[in-house]
Amino acid sequence: RPTVTFEDVSFGYEKDRRILHGLSFEAPAGASVALVGPSGAGKSTIGRLLFRFYDPWEGRICVDGQDIAKVTQQSLRAMIGIVPQDSVLFNETIGYNIAYGRDEPAPDDVRLAARDAAILPFIEAMPQKFGTQVGERGLKLSGGEKQRVAIARTLLKDPPILLLDEATSALDSRTEQDILATLKRVSANRTTIAIAHRLSTIADADIINVMDAGRIVEQGKHTQLLRLN
Ligand code: ADP
Ligand code: ADP
Repeated sequence: RPTVTFEDVSFGYEKDRRILHGLSFEAPAGASVALVGPSGAGKSTIGRLLFRFYDPWEGRICVDGQDIAKVTQQSLRAMIGIVPQDSVLFNETIGYNIAYGRDEPAPDDVRLAARDAAILPFIEAMPQKFGTQVGERGLKLSGGEKQRVAIARTLLKDPPILLLDEATSALDSRTEQDILATLKRVSANRTTIAIAHRLSTIADADIINVMDAGRIVEQGKHTQLLRLN
């Protein structure tokens, strides 16, 4: 599993408007690191830089010590699995949606898809729905179920780096905690960067970076941060 490092990264979308101010943090190999802070703090911008939608003005972003500016876009993006807040599903079966992006045909049978133990906990709650088409004329999925499908799809590609960008923020807290517990169980030892605006979402992270206005203002474990407040 790779280590991801941001070293003194500065960036803005427009000239003369700096969004990130010399920001540094590390996601050690196999660890889960959280970026938490209010809306506008720059959390999603960090995700976009990691994916190289943009390049930093100053500083470097490294994966295992190598500057990502020197890695091909293709191999960089192949390393990173993203789960956004509102995942878009195809108007196809759940099996198709989970298998999308794989070379193998879409498994419409839950037992086929479940060969991968990591995704099983995400789909075992809805096996009876597996062969039904998602969408207007077919299956209605709840927000939580949609996110389960999206997470299963991402995990099935076994990305060394997992980027959760407010992946559970739109869900009610019980569903959120449920999905987070499952994620924790199956994504141990995967380098994970979790972006969230609520501390409760990322309480389990190995390292929490609290952001405000493009800077990291606190860094530590959940218990340490609580002691500060
Ligand atoms: P400051 O630190 O006061 O914002 P800088 O000397 O870093 O000023 O940069 C001058 C201006 O140009 C800044 O306002 C910054 O927003 C902008 N800037 C700096 N680097 C870049 C860049 N690589 N691309 C676009 N604009 C930049
Ligand atoms: P967060 O994810 O913490 O809510 P963002 O990274 O989305 O914060 O945004 C940080 C800042 O960058 C905000 O001030 C936002 O308005 C600005 N910003 C975000 N995306 C763009 C963009 N595409 N163009 C210009 N400014 C942007």
